[in-house]
Amino acid sequence: MPCPTEDRLNSADQLLLFAEPDWPPDPFDVRVRAEGLYVGCADLYLDARLKVDRCFISHAHTDHACAAHGVTVCTSATARFMRLRLRSGEFDVHPFGRPFPWGDARLTLHPAGHVLGSAQLLVEYGGQRLVYTGDIKLGPSLTCERAKVVPCDVLICESTFGLEKFRFPPVAQARRQIAHLAGELLAADRVPVFLGYSLGRGPELAAILAQAGFEVMVEESIGQHLRVYRELGWFDWPVRPLDPRKARGRVVVTPAGPAAAAIARQVTGAELVYVSGWAMLAGYGRRFGADHAVCLSDHADFDDLLRLAGRTGARKVYVTHGYTRPLRDSLAARGIPSRILNVGAPRRRARSP
Ligand SMILES: [Zn+2]
Repeated sequence: MPCPTEDRLNSADQLLLFAEPDWPPDPFDVRVRAEGLYVGCADLYLDARLKVDRCFISHAHTDHACAAHGVTVCTSATARFMRLRLRSGEFDVHPFGRPFPWGDARLTLHPAGHVLGSAQLLVEYGGQRLVYTGDIKLGPSLTCERAKVVPCDVLICESTFGLEKFRFPPVAQARRQIAHLAGELLAADRVPVFLGYSLGRGPELAAILAQAGFEVMVEESIGQHLRVYRELGWFDWPVRPLDPRKARGRVVVTPAGPAAAAIARQVTGAELVYVSGWAMLAGYGRRFGADHAVCLSDHADFDDLLRLAGRTGARKVYVTHGYTRPLRDSLAARGIPSRILNVGAPRRRARSP
C-alpha cells in the first residue's frame, strides 16, 4: 500500500506525526501543497505559486506575487504594485498592526523591511501564534518600513542567505561604498549604471545616490514604481527619466537584463555596478555583465536570520527558500527545533540583482 502523502493527512494525523520530543504539536496545520505553502487552520495559502481562492501575498516581487488569486490578502502598497502588472483578482487590503478576523483565526500584518509594502503574517489560532516572514530584512532602508520582530510560537522563516558565509557589511558602509564608487567613476568621465529591480533595490539605489547629491536618471519601469513610492510618501528625491543622450555626468539606475544591456550599448563610457547580497560571491556580478559589485541586500543575512528566530521566542521554526539545510542545522545547534518546508524553486528571478 502506498504511503499517504502529507496532503492526504488530516489535522489529527499531522499532530500525531509531529508529536515528537523536539517538535511540539501546534494547531496551525502548516503544509506544502502543489499550489504552495498552506495554513490549514485559516484555509489560506502563503505566496502561492499557482492561482488559488485565498492567498496572503507578502510582497509584490514576481517570485512571490505570481498569480491573480481569487482574494489576495496584502498591504495597500503591495496591491498597488501588483495592479501594475495583474489586471484581475480581488484585494483584501490591511494596514500594519491592525488585527482582523479570518474564519476561526485572527490575522495581523507586520512590516518585513524587504521592500515597500512587504509584510509578515501573524496567524493567531487556538491560543497560539504563527508568523510567516515572507522575504525579510532587519536592517534599515530609505524606502520602506523597518521590519518588526513579532513574538510567536511557530515561525516560518525565509532562508535565502541561511549560510554562515553570508555576513553582510553594515548598511551605512554599503551606502558609502555606493556613493564613493559613483563619484570615482564620474571623476574618470565614466557613467555609473547601478543595477536594481523596479521594486525595492532600484528605488533604494536611486534614493541613496540622490541623497548623496548625485543627479540620478531612472529607467522607465523604475520610474513607474517610483510614482507609487511618491504617492505613498516614501520617495521625495529629485530623479529624472533616463535619456541615454544626456547620461554623461549623471548616475543611472536600471534593472539588469535587456534594459541594462541597451544602456551599455547606447551610453558611451557606461560601467555597470551589481548591487546585491550575492555580491559576496566572487565574480557573481559578471553574470549580469557588471564591471563592479557592492554588497547591499534587501534580505536578512545569516546572523540576522538567527537573531530573528531567537528574538521571536518561537518554540519551533520552519525554514523555506534558499539555504534551508544549513540554517536548519544552525538553528538546531542553538537549541531551536527547525524543519524544512520545501516549496520548490521560485518561478522567476531567484538571484537577480
Ligand atoms: Zn522579494
